[in-house]
Amino acid sequence: MRWSLLIALLAALSLAAFAAPFGKAEPDLRISVRQENEADLLVVYEWRKPRGEMIFESVAGGYRERRWEIATPGFELKRLEDEDRIVRADGKKFTHVELTAKPDLLRIEKEYQPTARYGAGGALIYTGHFWPVTGKGGRVNATFDFTPAAGGHVVAFGANEPELTAWRSPMAHPAFVYLGALDPVETDHVMALIDPDAPRWIVDEFNALVPASFEKLAALFGFTPETKPNLFLSAPLGSDESRLSYAGDALPAQFQITLEGAAWKEKSDKARGIFVNATIHEAVHLWQAAARPGADDAPEWIHEGAADAIAAEVMVALGEWDSEAYAASERAARTECAAELNAGSLNGAKARGDFRALYACGHVIALAVARADGETTADFWRDFIERAGDDGYSEDMFYDLVAERTGDRDFADAVEDFARTPLAEPSRAIDGLFASAGSLARGRGR
Ligand SMILES: [Zn+2]
Repeated sequence: MRWSLLIALLAALSLAAFAAPFGKAEPDLRISVRQENEADLLVVYEWRKPRGEMIFESVAGGYRERRWEIATPGFELKRLEDEDRIVRADGKKFTHVELTAKPDLLRIEKEYQPTARYGAGGALIYTGHFWPVTGKGGRVNATFDFTPAAGGHVVAFGANEPELTAWRSPMAHPAFVYLGALDPVETDHVMALIDPDAPRWIVDEFNALVPASFEKLAALFGFTPETKPNLFLSAPLGSDESRLSYAGDALPAQFQITLEGAAWKEKSDKARGIFVNATIHEAVHLWQAAARPGADDAPEWIHEGAADAIAAEVMVALGEWDSEAYAASERAARTECAAELNAGSLNGAKARGDFRALYACGHVIALAVARADGETTADFWRDFIERAGDDGYSEDMFYDLVAERTGDRDFADAVEDFARTPLAEPSRAIDGLFASAGSLARGRGR
């Protein structure tokens, strides 16, 4: 397919839309981010009123402690249990702090990278790690200024500009922002930034997969996301021939893919299979984002497992998988989930660092529910999005919808126990869940 370059026009249109989307004319904080060298940043915080501290949500692995340096004298970074604080050592109030931020040395697992090298000389920034929170858990009313290194530009959603000032995300949510020299390409479906180092076959697959899978997803979910998504594909492959690593992160109306390992260079069935399935998984998140987790921190297996399950449904719909391949993906999820739950409950998995449980066991639950209610996981999510509404969803809301759709509270309770309780024999518990789902389906004559 052909990429069309309508960027300048679109940037002009969308910039007008960015001018004051929330009517908060006067921010409490201006955050200026200047690209110094590749993904090294100079970040300046300018508060409207003096204050005693800046609070940030913590980043796994103590990232800020290791990779931030406060350039303004007399300040210190304090690492607390689930937050970082910047304060003056003498305890006095302040309005101005400058610091430098560098990318972490390794990818931080199951976390958005605060700043990461992206293509030659570029940086991909996740604003959430630079955006302070209020004491009440919300985000400070802040605007961002982005200044790329000489010759570069800034890309965020529909904007592609020499710099952005007084910017707020159109999604009112932390976002990815690119600083560097790469030009985005735009299609009917997406605004994409593709690393020029990405192998040609990957780019061709991506160009074919995006319209095909987006069309299927629009049909399965019954709507098209309002904002045209931003996709970022980077390929710092390196020289390790045995490595084939795919890392994806999704945000409202954005996802980014990082491919690492020299095994990506040549097209193989294995490499292609991983790329296609994982990219569809990320694309599913663009639709799921219509339902946001509510304030009570819904577990991630709810959306990650469903993304795996719906991706499998799309693989079949696209003809990528036959029924045997689909069945193999179910077996793989069941086996992996059982192994992950040997160390403790599903709801405790993230805290244990068993991140794969969120995918595999979430997938198992999605499959069992789909079997019990006789519909697809995409169908469940259509209902779930509606139920979540503007307030967002909770774990209890998930079980309630399971009870409603299957007509069986006991089954919903069994799903809840499966997620919340450490299981003596995880694989028997999984078999039991599918057995109950099967008898419900038979009871309905399916
Ligand atoms: Zn995911």
